Amino acid sequence: MKTPAVARQVQVDYSSTSTPDGYRCCVCHRARIKLWRISQLKKELCCVRHLTIAGRAARIGRVRQDGKHYNFITGFTDRVGSYFPAVPDVWDDEETPFWRYNDIPQDAYEWWQRLPLR
Ligand SMILES: [Zn+2]
Repeated sequence: MKTPAVARQVQVDYSSTSTPDGYRCCVCHRARIKLWRISQLKKELCCVRHLTIAGRAARIGRVRQDGKHYNFITGFTDRVGSYFPAVPDVWDDEETPFWRYNDIPQDAYEWWQRLPLR
């Protein structure tokens, strides 16, 4: 009998600056930095460098350490075009549910803000 695959789930420690294995930019594979996501479930994560290069986003100004940049329509924002801050709820090897943009708990958001930009 085939053993069912056990998805490895990891609780993210929002009080730390550590990131789950696999929390990496899908272009340069850098880890332990601030990442953005385009989908709530897929792990298509991008670092600030590759958001810019992807060109899908509107031209972005200088992104600050806290992940925000100035947008002349919305003011300071952490959204980049259709990318949102990638804040995982529980990290799962198969599928990682990220917090919906408007539902990110404060401690989880602060964890993301503390991650280095580059
Ligand atoms: Zn990258």
